[in-house]
Amino acid sequence: MAEVILDRVNKQYENGFHAVKDLDLDIADGEFLVLVGPSGCGKSTALRMVAGLEDITSGTLKIGDRVVNTLSPRDRDIAMVFQSYALYPHMTVADNISYGLKIRRMEKAEIDRRVKKAAEMLELGALLDRRPKQLSGGQRQRVAMGRAIVREPQVFLMDEPLSNLDAKLRVQMRAEIAQVQHDLNVTTIYVTHDQTEAMTMGDRVALMKAGVLQQVGNPQFLYDNPDNIFVAGFIGSPPMNMALAQVERDGDDLVVVLGRSRLPLPAAARSERPGLDAYAGRQVAVGIRSEDMEDARLVRGADERSRLRATVSLIEALGSQIMVHFLLDAPRVVTEDTKLLDKDAHAEEAPKHDATKFVASFAPRSRVRAGDEVEVVVDTERMHFFDPTTGDAIR
Ligand code: ATP
Repeated sequence: MAEVILDRVNKQYENGFHAVKDLDLDIADGEFLVLVGPSGCGKSTALRMVAGLEDITSGTLKIGDRVVNTLSPRDRDIAMVFQSYALYPHMTVADNISYGLKIRRMEKAEIDRRVKKAAEMLELGALLDRRPKQLSGGQRQRVAMGRAIVREPQVFLMDEPLSNLDAKLRVQMRAEIAQVQHDLNVTTIYVTHDQTEAMTMGDRVALMKAGVLQQVGNPQFLYDNPDNIFVAGFIGSPPMNMALAQVERDGDDLVVVLGRSRLPLPAAARSERPGLDAYAGRQVAVGIRSEDMEDARLVRGADERSRLRATVSLIEALGSQIMVHFLLDAPRVVTEDTKLLDKDAHAEEAPKHDATKFVASFAPRSRVRAGDEVEVVVDTERMHFFDPTTGDAIR
């Protein structure tokens, strides 16, 4: 069993910078865990501690049933794949793949068996005599994978292995790596800043911010149940729409006042979030996913009240859907997290404070165009609520 367990693991660099704070992670045998977060959040540091390339300041790291805190990298039974594939340019593909085994003085027959198996798995059979410069980026990436696979380690550690590839190849290799991992069933920790990679590849995703784990879970679960504004904004593309609203009582019901709209909160949504009652008369941050909005003309019998009214500023027709951009007349949510998320997304200049950019996903038959006045129906059962000060989900 090669479970990997991090128990209150910390990293404080020599200059005093606290890069990883009390990290707890329990990665099951055979699991594919993706560590994701914006640049500088500490994900590579965490991975490098598991690899043994970085000392652990405090806490316990276990691989299998051994505490490996002070074990050298080569004794940890792990194999790493880096962003820079670090292939030896003068060696053939076969030699690159087998080099690590040769220096460990493994028997030739066993080396040949492993190289053959890895080459088959990665479709490198025809390329074994080539040198790295005679390979495409994707092929080089596969060689780097091959080198890790032949080690037959207990754990794979991968640090942004796809970031040197173009977009199309990245999508293809994403699926290939996930497939190989699945076939080999080797515990894997994969670091990326790309939430799409995290969502599509991971059995579970662990999202970090400023050295602190924010949430860990199945990707769809994080998407549907973000614990805070940071998770909500980071997981999903486009990011969750978010604006400030006021919660009011209307008799026994709760109403969410969002700009000029008064959205009634369905009983089901309210019973799922008993915490919301305490916010009556107060401000909340409301989150609405783009797919939870639709052109009102396309929704038969849609509640007149569950609508936002706006002028379309831009459309992006994707074929399967139309991304409809509009400015909502409700104040933006501004917290440390939203600032960090905007910076990470290289957001263009934000609109003025009493208006918020929203993106809705309409069915293509909506035929809506830029400049149109639209009524947008909100699936009010699927709205998310956060405390605007702490950023924590209200449940
Ligand atoms: P990226 O995606 O940019 O690599 P990351 O999430 O992997 O980011 P790390 O490389 O783990 O981030 O770095 C986390 C923080 O620790 C950063 O703020 C970084 O500047 C800092 N850091 C990294 N190495 C050192 C070091 N040797 N000394 C001091 N600080 C460091």
